[in-house]
This record gives sequence, C-alpha cells and structure tokens, in this order.
Amino acid sequence: MAQHSQALDLEEALRTIRDRLSSPITHETCPIADSLGRAVAAPVTAALSLPPFTASAMDGYAVRSADLNANAGYSLQQIGTSLAGHPFNGSVRHGQCVRIFTGAALPEGADLVVVQENVTHEDAGQVSFIPHTSKDTNVRAIGNDIAAGQVLVDTGETINPFLLGHLAAAGVTELPVFTKVRVGIFSSGDELRDPGTPVDQLRYGDIYDANRITLLQLLKGLPVDCVDLGCLPDDPEAVSSALSSAALTCDVLLTSGGVSVGDADFIVEQIQRQGELQFWRLNLKPGKPLAFGRIDNCWIFGLPGNPVSTIITALLLARPAIAFLAGVNLEKPLTLSAVLATPIQHSPGRTEFQRGQFHQDETGFKVSHTGEQGSNRFSSFRYANCLIEIDKEQGNLQMGDVVNILPLVNLLH
Ligand code: AMP
Ligand code: MG
Repeated sequence: MAQHSQALDLEEALRTIRDRLSSPITHETCPIADSLGRAVAAPVTAALSLPPFTASAMDGYAVRSADLNANAGYSLQQIGTSLAGHPFNGSVRHGQCVRIFTGAALPEGADLVVVQENVTHEDAGQVSFIPHTSKDTNVRAIGNDIAAGQVLVDTGETINPFLLGHLAAAGVTELPVFTKVRVGIFSSGDELRDPGTPVDQLRYGDIYDANRITLLQLLKGLPVDCVDLGCLPDDPEAVSSALSSAALTCDVLLTSGGVSVGDADFIVEQIQRQGELQFWRLNLKPGKPLAFGRIDNCWIFGLPGNPVSTIITALLLARPAIAFLAGVNLEKPLTLSAVLATPIQHSPGRTEFQRGQFHQDETGFKVSHTGEQGSNRFSSFRYANCLIEIDKEQGNLQMGDVVNILPLVNLLH
C-alpha cells in the first residue's frame, strides 16, 4: 500500500526520498587519473608540502635582504644561477647574489629575490642595482599553498579538474572513492521504437523513444554505471518480470511512462505488488505522476512519460537522489532572482517549473519563458538555460515581477 496516497509537494517528496535513502558504505581505491566526478570516501591528505622548498616567485637575483640599499645604487657579486629543477648548491653570503628564476629553489643564505627590473647592469660577475627597498620578498615559503598532511579533499566532495591537479601536485596517486551506483534505465510503452529505426518502418501511432537516451545523458558526470534496459511493453506480466530481475542487479531503476492511472499504466501497481511504494503523485507541473519506491534493495523512480516531465523530474528528484547514493555531498540547486521579461500564466494549485531563458544586464537578471510549455514539447527546451519556478499559490505573473530561476547548468552539476 502506498505510504502517501496524497499528492506531495516537491519539498516533501525530496524529504521523503532523502529520509529513505542511506549513505553509501562501500568504497574502493581509484587512481587519480580515473577519479574525475567520483565522490571521495575519506579525507585525502597531501604527501608533501607545496612548494616543497622555498621557491622564487620571480625572475631576478637571490640576495640577503640586509644587502639592499634604499639610498644609493649598489652592486653584488654573482656567484651562480638557480634554475627550476637545477638548484644552486652553495650559500649566499654578504655582498653576493645568485641569478634566479621563477620556481627555482632559493639558495641558502638568501632571503629575498630582487626583481630583474631593479638591475641596472650586469658585468664581469658584478650585478648593479638601483637604490630600492622591497615590499615583497618575492619568495614562496615552504607550504605556502598546502602543508604536508593537510586535507586536500574531504569525504563527499567530488573530484573536479582543479582538485585533480592539486592532488597530483601534492604527490597523491590514488584515493578512496565510493563505489559507483548502478542505474538501470527503462522506457515503457507499446508505441515506442528505438531511435535509428527507419521512419518508414514506424507503424501508424508509433513514436521514437526519446527518454532513454536523454536520461542516460542526464546522469553523465555522476559516479554511476548506467545500463540501458530497453523498453517495457504495456503488459503487466512483462513489466513485473523485467522489474524484478533488474532490481536484483541495479541499485536504482529509472522508468519513464506507464506511471499514470491509464489502462496501460503498470509501473505503480508493480512496485506496490513487489516491494514498497512511497508515493506516486506530486503537486508538480510538469511531473504530476511520479512513483518512488523500492523492490528488494533497489530504489525505483517511475518517472512520467511525457519527455519534458521526464527531464524535469529527473533533474529535480532522481538525479540528486542518485548523487546522494553515490556519496556526493548535495547542495540545493542554485536559485537566482530574475525579473520577468514576459508575463506568465499560472493557476494556483501545483508548483510549476517553466523553461526559461535568462540573461544578465546592468540591472541584474532578466528572464523570459520559452513559449508554449506543453509537457510533450521538447521545443520548450530550445534556447532554455534555466527553469522558472512558480509557487503553487501563485496566480498569473506580469512583466516586471520577480521570480526564482534555476540555471540548467547547475542542475547538471
Ligand atoms: P504514459 O504516461 O505512458 O501515458 O506516457 C505519456 C506520454 O509520453 C505519451 O504520449 C507517451 O507516448 C509519451 N512517452 C512515453 N515514454 C516516452 C519516451 N520514452 N519517449 C517519448 N515519448 C514518450
Ligand atoms: Mg504509456
């Protein structure tokens, strides 16, 4: 029996999902080169300090600061050169200097680098400088970026290219990451044909299956292994056996279609029969029919079939849930305030997410909807770069009203 036979608000549905899911427990070791997008399972510390030696931040001369003269030109004897990767091994004494380049080790005895701009001439091992002081030592101390043993990345953070570089620089070669979530993706409906089927082979009433390819792509970037499980026919026996066998090998199943209350809708009934159904309706537009439950140890999201509804519910509910199961620290999606550049029709009742196009001008963010918003219309995503959130209590909105927008790029983060 469904826990909630009432339609849930989005927040309530998200809370229910979150309360039911548990954090991942299994992890594995991953070479850093393969770790992009993976969620870290334990703090990772630096194997060495960065920089590991006192390094010059500029091209110039390594000197003792006591040798600088603010009142008169002065000259020092050059006793060697320190290049990146080729340190000078001697020590700089009073009256001496060492030619040095960015990233090279500061020789012993020197505590400051005089920048090239302060040199007047170099002649027979003598370097002359203009009168000057130095506000900056132009030196990077050991550990100026990170100290050996310091945490570089913590549990739940996902590896991005910047972190990858930092891990490599700090001598980390592999790291503990949570195991990937195995997600099986089904479509459902007798009318659906695989993309690639020649147009002249479609029967009257057939359409191409657009949801599977979309869902597979929407999950890219998450630490998941997606399995394309094909299309379920509108037949309760076939749905029943396909769901029960997929539930044995997947952590999460996403289906789309067959989740309403029509004669050919069997997903809800099968989740109920074989496992537990948490809810199956939302106060959401698009996305009213949406089932969440489990069969054995596999979580199931029965997403609505209309492609726009599939996408919106995948972005707002299924994707964050899968990310959480993969150990990713979840943040609420970024919401910005924007001024409406087009009016919006909305009847109070359900929270709505319209597709919108926003831009920034000198006064802030402006947003327009992308035209007719039918849940079958992929065209509403054409030129869209955000969702416009319209509260369930809200009536029609006028140009100039302020609305919340969710940039699409952040929903795919
Ligand atoms: P349903 O909930 O199964 O009645 O589906 C609702 C609408 O979405 C119907 O018009 C279906 O043909 C359509 N639909 C369902 N699944 C897909 C899919 N995978 N690709 C494109 N359209 C679909
Ligand atoms: Mg159907």
